[in-house]
Amino acid sequence: MTVFEPLLDALHSCQRCPRLLAHRATLVPRRGLSLEDYHNGPVAGFGDPNARVFLVGLAPGAHGANRTGRPFTGDGAGDFMYPLLYQSGFSNQADASAPDDGLQLRDLYISNAVKCLPPANKPQGTEFANCRPYLLAEQKRLKHLKVVILLGRGAFDSYLRLYCDLGVVGRLKDYPFYHGAVYSLPGGPDLVACYHTSRYNVQTGRMTSALFLGLLSRVRQLLDQSRNG
Ligand code: SF4
Repeated sequence: MTVFEPLLDALHSCQRCPRLLAHRATLVPRRGLSLEDYHNGPVAGFGDPNARVFLVGLAPGAHGANRTGRPFTGDGAGDFMYPLLYQSGFSNQADASAPDDGLQLRDLYISNAVKCLPPANKPQGTEFANCRPYLLAEQKRLKHLKVVILLGRGAFDSYLRLYCDLGVVGRLKDYPFYHGAVYSLPGGPDLVACYHTSRYNVQTGRMTSALFLGLLSRVRQLLDQSRNG
């Protein structure tokens, strides 16, 4: 147990972001569902506690993670991503539809930079900052961490700010975001920037299966290098 465990234990009742709490209170369920069908609270990360890879998204989707209570579960971003993670050996199955679906991540842990549903999928700077201690706590759990995949600029910047706060990273502008960028932090994991797997990015062709599989292949290379290094 790390000193961060009590913080993670308290995540489910966190009230640090009033705007996000207010937004949750106005949630309109998907047709045919009621509010009782929704988790509608902070969504904790999940996965292999011995993972060498940490994948960080932006925030729960309204009718995906915010409904099911598990990151990227039940929405387009997850429907795209999980089968490809399976194809790349990072899970035991392609299906990821509900927390009781039997999915087990392998060498992988998944979470979001912001644990609560933001309006218009756009967390504010203070909300990223409020939630960073949870992100740090989740990372500290992963004793074998080698690679962090950051989906989208929001997650990427927030993660770098974590290292700014720790005094490891000086200026964010020295770490430009582009798909496939890899940065080795001094004494830390390799950071891999990735376009988000959102339905919008997939529909517009910004994100494709080939692009995501290629990135996962690069992650495998980084893991092999760290083993041989
Ligand atoms: S986003 Fe994070 S810090 Fe803000 S209320 Fe939710 S759990 Fe707490």
